[in-house]
Amino acid sequence: MFGISYTDIVNKIKTEKSISEEQIESLVKKKLEQYGDLISKDGAIHIVANELRVKVFDDNIPNRVFKVENILPGMNFVNVDAKVVSVGEVRSFKTDKREGRVVNIVVGDETGLVRLVIWDEKYIKVVEEGKIKIEDILRIKNAYSKGSDAFPELHIGSRSLLNINPEGVQVKDPVMQKRHYGLKRIVDLKDNDSVDIIGTIVQVFEPRFYSACKDCGKKVELNDGIFNCGTHGQIVPIEVPILNVFLDDGSDNIRVVMFRDLVGKLIEGDPIKFRENNEAFEEVRSNILGKQLKVSGRVSKNAMFDRFEFMAQDISEVDAQEVADNLLKEIDTKY
Ligand SMILES: [Zn+2]
Repeated sequence: MFGISYTDIVNKIKTEKSISEEQIESLVKKKLEQYGDLISKDGAIHIVANELRVKVFDDNIPNRVFKVENILPGMNFVNVDAKVVSVGEVRSFKTDKREGRVVNIVVGDETGLVRLVIWDEKYIKVVEEGKIKIEDILRIKNAYSKGSDAFPELHIGSRSLLNINPEGVQVKDPVMQKRHYGLKRIVDLKDNDSVDIIGTIVQVFEPRFYSACKDCGKKVELNDGIFNCGTHGQIVPIEVPILNVFLDDGSDNIRVVMFRDLVGKLIEGDPIKFRENNEAFEEVRSNILGKQLKVSGRVSKNAMFDRFEFMAQDISEVDAQEVADNLLKEIDTKY
């Protein structure tokens, strides 16, 4: 609740006032006796610290730790513990007002994902040196938020602090944003829409694979027998699956592109076994065809093929009833 533990405060008092733990405990005991049941032991240590003039909270950096889902645009002094999901490229920019460098990292916790925008050169260097990797835990302090309600961003400026894999800090595996996307009919989709679509799988393509750096997720090519990542040097790559299906909702259909874990989620198994064996995939294909899916994601224009695709960020199966209900709702709003 206070965001700082009993032991932390005891240690703070110990170092700042050079008094023993026993003495502190006896002061806490006295406070508890004085207040009866009105305060907890945690409350008592705060009072003791105050009376000894030990500052429990650093005024510049409030200690409240947010969950990702609670980050909204326009907040200052945001503290979050989050896990790295992907690391972008460092980019240089120049505007009328200023020039510099920036890098985006996607981080998350069990409540959602947020884009971390790093402007501080000190941390950009850390990213450049490959010292921030997928699965790393970041303790983010004193960040500020921008963006929109649906896509908040957390910015790391000169007053912010980033601690990589701090001892004792754990973060659960990030999940896709639970923020509501809003449902759209496929025929109404526009470039860059971030929405949900619900439809039936009417076509399934064989899975393909590409090699990627396990630390930053970037695609890597084989050159002279060596896989080289621009950031992490020579690496042993991981194989990332891609699966394309056509989803049809009665209004139209669209190619849905799924990467990574989503492929395994859809086929209910590890896709890697189909890498060299397309025939074995036939059974999976017939299981998937006709499935009804809800897909959250973004419409993206594939320039090479001059077509719209739906880049899936999360999928879930829906039952026929849900599809029918949605259809009814749609009819209700129309007439
Ligand atoms: Zn890499």
